[in-house]
Parts: sequence; structure tokens; C-alpha cells
Amino acid sequence: MTFLEYAPAPESKAVLNLKDSYGLFIDGEFVDGSGSSFTTISPADESRIAEIASANDEDIDRAVAAARRAYDRTWSRMSGRDRGKYLFRIARLVQERARELAVAESLDNGKPIKESRDVDVPLVASWFFYYAGWADKLDYAGLGANPRALGVAGQVIPWNFPLLMLAWKLAPALAAGNTVVLKPAETTPLTALIFAEILQQADLPAGVVNIVTGAGSTGAALVRHPDVDKVAFTGSTGVGRDIARAVAGTNKKLTLELGGKAANIVFDDAPVDQAIEGIVNGIFFNQGHVCCAGSRLLVQESIHDEVIDRLKSRLSTLRLGDPLDKNTDIGAINSAAQLARIRELSDIGEAEGAERWTAECAIPEKGFWFAPTIFTGVEASHRIARDEVFGPVLSVLTFRTPAEAIAKANNTPYGLSAGIWSDKGSRILAVADRLRAGVVWANTFNRFDPSSPFGGYKESGYGREGGRQGLTAYLKGAAA
Ligand code: NAP
Ligand code: MG
Repeated sequence: MTFLEYAPAPESKAVLNLKDSYGLFIDGEFVDGSGSSFTTISPADESRIAEIASANDEDIDRAVAAARRAYDRTWSRMSGRDRGKYLFRIARLVQERARELAVAESLDNGKPIKESRDVDVPLVASWFFYYAGWADKLDYAGLGANPRALGVAGQVIPWNFPLLMLAWKLAPALAAGNTVVLKPAETTPLTALIFAEILQQADLPAGVVNIVTGAGSTGAALVRHPDVDKVAFTGSTGVGRDIARAVAGTNKKLTLELGGKAANIVFDDAPVDQAIEGIVNGIFFNQGHVCCAGSRLLVQESIHDEVIDRLKSRLSTLRLGDPLDKNTDIGAINSAAQLARIRELSDIGEAEGAERWTAECAIPEKGFWFAPTIFTGVEASHRIARDEVFGPVLSVLTFRTPAEAIAKANNTPYGLSAGIWSDKGSRILAVADRLRAGVVWANTFNRFDPSSPFGGYKESGYGREGGRQGLTAYLKGAAA
């Protein structure tokens, strides 16, 4: 079979106005960091993007002090209506600079431009618009008699949705009246620093948001700082555990959004065409670097062969390559370390006896790449059925009855998300009711909306982000 040739359609980098090096953003200004700086690269070709400052304990101290001052002197005294105005302004500036942010995100992270342009950045704007609307309504939302901010929030985010995770953290914290010190991931600091420029453009009072770049030790110092009132973390379960230990016995409030190993359940009455698209979106969106990815496909035995055949032919049409090309479906793996982990778990899958299939595609010479891969014949005991791969790797298991599907879906230490594909509404509701997952999608997958709470059970963490529930994490005495 021959496919149509696609001419390259690269998005221009001319829209970027990058600096050669970036400092820490503290008290409204870019300042030097005291740690040794590091380079952020493009994972698509390993080229250097910019030099990034690193914050040590002293810098964290300065950032937290700036946030405390801003909290005491300005932000906590401002009316909700005025806080809302700043958030609306930030949302509009994100829209104005959307193209620039999308290009920067794809460059630094490796995700396809059509995702950063059509998913990440529009959601970032919608998160700020949504919480802007809450800022003056806290008294009327059943959040307690006199909902009050907690104070200074220390927030640590991962590399898979760098700017979107920043928005998930900042928007509710600021709407509720807190000030913030935020640490982006080491491999993807770029859009947070451009966002700092947006905060300057928005004239946000100095110190309300501080952005401290650095490695894991910077995050560790931030969550341990004694003058931080609230810790919010998104990342791996291992680091989440470490943070929970560090915060235990203090007065800090904590929310953790951790890993997942979601079941995507396809019943034999499912609309198969849509299900195939949903499976592809579930695990190959953002190279599978998605905490709520549908990484375990549970397919009813009677339609297994049909689904797998159709899935393979669909995957053979996906285009892997330059993240800045508008035709690209699969971008680069975010880092060499993540690529090594995906390779290791995939090799273990093969060694344990699952059957490996990989879509045929040309792999670029430079950069970090992994072709879409499916494992069939996976047993519930296999590592690829239990561990989060966090890459474009799908494990396929089968079931015969709804009860077996539910048991297999829940047989995981995680509980972040799940998907159900069926023509019958009653079956969808009955199954969804018995799944231990924070989010259950029906006949769709990986849908996000600021009004819809998101979060996990078990080792996927605790607390909810999004919606009215997302505000309670940043208010004194508020119940969800
Ligand atoms: P990670 O290693 O846990 O890193 C997350 C963030 O924590 C990064 O900013 C990291 O800094 C920082 N960090 C590392 N060690 C730390 C420590 N001891 N104390 C404080 N902060 C520390 O996770 P990742 O590999 O970047 O991200 C992938 C994981 O995040 C996956 O397991 C995924 O499921 C999970 N995730 C969950 C959600 C959700 O909403 N539930 C969303 C996205 C990702 P460095 O970058 O410098 O290491
Ligand atoms: Mg990078």
C-alpha cells in the first residue's frame, strides 16, 4: 500500500523571542540563581535552547519571603474582584501569545505542535478564565462561612504538560488568594519563564508568583521550607511519597497528583471506529507521557482480533517526527532518561512473554524517539501491566464478562482514570460505578475541562484539581 506523501509543514520559530539565558523569577524580577545553571535542550534533536538558572536553599528562602510579603501586603488585602481582574488579564495574554507559547512548548518538551497549539495552550487560557470567574464568588459557593486563603503555596510540577500543569496549579491558588512559589521540571522550564514575562506584562504585583527553576533538590528545598503553608505536587509516586513524609507532622496542607495505569475497557457492543480512535488518543497522545493515559487496553475476547488488526493499521498511518511540523502525530520522548525507562520496561515485557508489535516508521538520527508499540497476550502479573511506562506503549489484556473487566481494571495500585466503550448507557453507568478511578470517561478519553475535578485514589494521590473542588485545596477549613 502506498501512502500520500506529506510535504513538510513546519511551524516557524520566528515567533519566539528567546533569551540566551534565564534567571529565577523572584519578587517580580529575573534574578541570578546561586546554584549552577543548566541547559535546556530540544529532545527532538538535542540542540541547546537556553541556559537556565538553578535555585538553591538561599534562593528558595528569598522566593518564599517575597511570596510572604506579597501575601501580607497586597494579595490577601485585595478584593476577590480585583484578583479576578488579574487572572482575566493573564488569560487574555496567554491567548494573545498562544502561538509563541505553543512553539516554545513543542521545542522544549518534544510534543507535536498540533497538540500544544490545539490542546495545551487553549486549556491553559481556559483554566485562567475559569478560576478568574471564581475569585469574587468564594463567599457564595458553599466553601464555608468565611473562606480564607492558606498563605504561601509551594508547587512542584512535571515535564509532560509543562505550561498546563502550571495553569492547573497557579489559577486556583491565586483565585483563592494565595501567593505562590512554583518549580517547573528541569527538562521543561521554558514556557514557565515566558509565562513569567506574561506576569510582568499583566502587572501582577511583585512576589505574588515566583518561579524557581532547578532540579529535584530545588523542589525538595521548596516543599520543606518552614514558611510554606501549602504544598501541591504533580509527578511520580516515588517523589510524592518522599514529599508526604517531609510534610507529615507540619501544618502544611498537601495535595498529590501522581501516576496512573488506566484501564481502557472496550465491550463487544462498542462503536469500534470511535473506540480505535479513542484507544489511539488514550495512549499515543503526548507520546503516552500522560498520567491518566489508557495504558492498559481491556478488550472483550470476542472482538480482540478485529480490534488489534484495526489498531495496527491505524497506527501504521501515524507520522512520527519533527514536533514543530503540523503533520506530526508522534513527537519526541522528553529525555534520554525517560527513553531508557521505556526501553527497559518494553524489553521486560518481551522477556516476560508478551508479544511485541511496533509500527514501522523512520526514526530520526538525533534526539529521543520511540515508535508506537503494542503488547498483546499480556498477563495481569506482567510488569508492563503493572508499572507505569509513561511512553507510547500499550498493553492489551482480554476479558469475557463485565465482572472480569471490572476486577482486572481495579487490579492496580493506581486509580487515576479509566475508559469505557459500549453502546449501552446502563452498562456504562453500572461499570463506572464500580471502577476505583478518579475520572471515568465513556466513549471518549483524555478529555479535560477546568470545571471538571481531576485526581486519584490509592497510589495515584489525593486531593482534586479543577472545578469548585480544586479551590478547597487552597482555602482554610473548606470541605470539597
Ligand atoms: P518526578 O520525578 O516526580 O518529578 C516531578 C517534579 O518533582 C519535577 O519538577 C522534579 O524535578 C521534582 N522533584 C524531583 N525530586 C523531588 C524531590 N525529592 N522533592 C521535590 N521535588 C522533586 O516525575 P516526572 O518523572 O517528572 O513525571 C512523571 C510522573 O509524573 C509520572 O509518574 C506521571 O504519572 C506523573 N504525573 C502525574 C500527573 C497527575 O496529574 N496525576 C500529571 C503529570 C504527571 P526535576 O524535573 O528536576 O527532576
Ligand atoms: Mg527541554
